[in-house]
Order: sequence, then C-alpha cells, then structure tokens
Amino acid sequence: MRSVSKYFDGGDTVANYKLDLEVEDGEFLVFLGPSGCGKTTALRMIAGLETPSDGEIYFDDDRVDGKQPADRNVAMVFQNYALYPHMTVRENIEYPLKIQGIPPEERDERVAETAELLHIEEQLGSDPAEISGGQRQRTSLARAIIRKPSVFLLDEPLSNLDAKLRLEMRSELKRLQSELDITTVYVTHNQEEAMSMGDRIAVMNQGTIRQVADPEELYRRPQTTWVADFIGSPPMNLFEGIQADGTVDLAGENELPTKTPTASETVSVGVRPEDMSVDSDSPETDWAIRGTVETVEPLGEYVLVNVDVDGKFVNVKVPTTDVEPEQQVSLTFEPEDAYLYDGDGEL
Ligand code: ADP
Ligand code: MG
Repeated sequence: MRSVSKYFDGGDTVANYKLDLEVEDGEFLVFLGPSGCGKTTALRMIAGLETPSDGEIYFDDDRVDGKQPADRNVAMVFQNYALYPHMTVRENIEYPLKIQGIPPEERDERVAETAELLHIEEQLGSDPAEISGGQRQRTSLARAIIRKPSVFLLDEPLSNLDAKLRLEMRSELKRLQSELDITTVYVTHNQEEAMSMGDRIAVMNQGTIRQVADPEELYRRPQTTWVADFIGSPPMNLFEGIQADGTVDLAGENELPTKTPTASETVSVGVRPEDMSVDSDSPETDWAIRGTVETVEPLGEYVLVNVDVDGKFVNVKVPTTDVEPEQQVSLTFEPEDAYLYDGDGEL
C-alpha cells in the first residue's frame, strides 16, 4: 500500500490516512487496533470492495486499485462466515470452482484435499445447520482457500467462536497459513490473537498505522506512548516527569536516574507491570513512588496489585505479595526497565 487513504461522507470521515505498508510474500500480517480505527476498510481496499480515495495498491508489480475483486485473486473470510444454507458442506466448498468452470473430476480432488487440510472430511455430506460453529468456520475457510488465492484476507474470523474453540482455531489457522504459504492479512482487535499469529503486526489507531513490528519487538520496544499504552495486559504504566541533568523528576519528589536522556524537558516514563515491585516497607533505593493499594487480585499465574498514585492507577504484576488494600506502599523499578518517551510521546 502506498500512501493509501479512504474518506467517507464527502471527507468528513477519515477511515484510513496515508497507509504505507509492504506485506512480504507468504507473510502473515495482522492489522491490530481498537474498534473503528479503520482495519476493515483497509482490508476491503486490498480486496477491491472499496476504492481508495488516494494512494496506490500493488500485488507484486501489478497495480490493483481500480481492478475488480474478481480480477485480484483474493479470498476473504468474514466474522459472519455466511454459508449457503441450502447447500451441503461439499457443495459450499466446491462452489467457487464451479463458478470458475473447473471440471468435476478436478473439483472432487480439490474438495477432498481441502477438506482433509481442515479436518472436515466427515462433514462433507452434512448441511451447515447440522454441524458445529467451529466446523462451519472451517467450511468457510475451505471455501476461501480452495481457489488457491494469491492473497488471503481475514476479518475477525474467530470472534464469533467461544473461547476454547477460538484458541484451537487460532493454531489451526496459523498451521494452515504456513502450510499453504499464502500471503495473509488478518484483522483483529484481539491482542493475544495478533501476538500469537502474526509474523508482523501493524498497530492502527484513528485510521493510521502507528507501528509495524514483529510481536517480540512490539512488546519490547513500543515506539510511542500510544502503542505502549495499548500493548500488554495490563499495558505499560506511564508516569509524567520533568527531565534535567540525567535524572527525571517524577511527581515532584522522585529523582529517577535515566540511562538514555532525550532532548525534551517533559517526558513520560514507561514501566511494564511485571517490571515493578510493590513494598509496604521503605525500599532500599533512595527514590520510590508512593501510593495506596486499591485492589489485590490473585490471578493464579501472578498477583495483580492496583495502586492509586495521586489519582492515577498503576498496575503491578508480582508472583506473590503481602500488601493489602488501603495500605501505603512504595513502588520501585530498575532504571534499565524504564522506557523514556519525549514530550511528543516518541521513544
Ligand atoms: P474497524 O474495522 O477498525 O472497526 P472500520 O474500517 O469499519 O473500522 O471503520 C473505520 C471508520 O470508517 C469508522 O469511523 C467507520 O464508521 C467509518 N466507515 C466505515 N465504512 C463506512 C462507510 N461505508 N460509510 C461511512 N463511514 C464508514
Ligand atoms: Mg472491522
């Protein structure tokens, strides 16, 4: 995508603004962002279901914006995987090949192959109403890939499934994609899905791409406070501060040494919940952030402590703790675990 924008309502709604993105051959790229940020519109432009207001879209060297969906060899799967109810699973899967005029023998072969890939051989003779939600979703995936599309587009395809099935389909989809080696663009607002499936993730907000990175880098090096505040569960804690002489003054009393000063005076210091400690005693360090414990939630894997610091909530993840609600506590962290963002929110 080269500087692709999409406006609706005569320009009043900016659904996408100057998207620049190159998806590699065989890559699994995820558009991740909150509802309304423009993910579906971006995907629909790649599919040819929307025309860009501005910019260019290429498949290899072939400029495709302006081309009909049928001339792009893309397959798209939606959240509401509409199957034809009056057709069997087999007929549903076979349908795109029939339209292409592919002879019956080859159709049979490809249906068998695709059904095997998606583990729905046993369901081929059933009607959509007779099979489970997961099998229906597999059927719609089968129908999409049987044409051997050059680009596979998926818009929140798992969000109508229950939690257990969603997990199962997540790894199945990933397996399928890497087996078929199809260039895939996958839209979701679910971070876990994005992190577990994506080779790279394009984080979107308000119609723009904020960062494109692989999951590890996105987690380790969020480029802006917006991304930092979006990635992670709970996301990074951000503290406002004033920087001078290699230290950051947090809340007027805490001189936090910084490893990488920035040029700007006002800064945000980001610390992940798992990189913070919470103590009822005064800590050994010569600085600490003081607060009052709001809640202590034992979540099995870890304990989530929520601390009120001057009316702002700070999340701390610890293996165990003896602090209790309403207790005065000290929050500390290692300076090397702190991210320093400048006044514009850039790392
Ligand atoms: P997402 O998929 O991330 O939830 P969408 O791409 O559906 O976001 O929508 C992005 C923005 O564009 C929203 O403000 C939405 O209301 C607007 N939008 C999408 N499609 C249309 C349309 N056909 N007409 C007018 N506005 C639209
Ligand atoms: Mg959407």
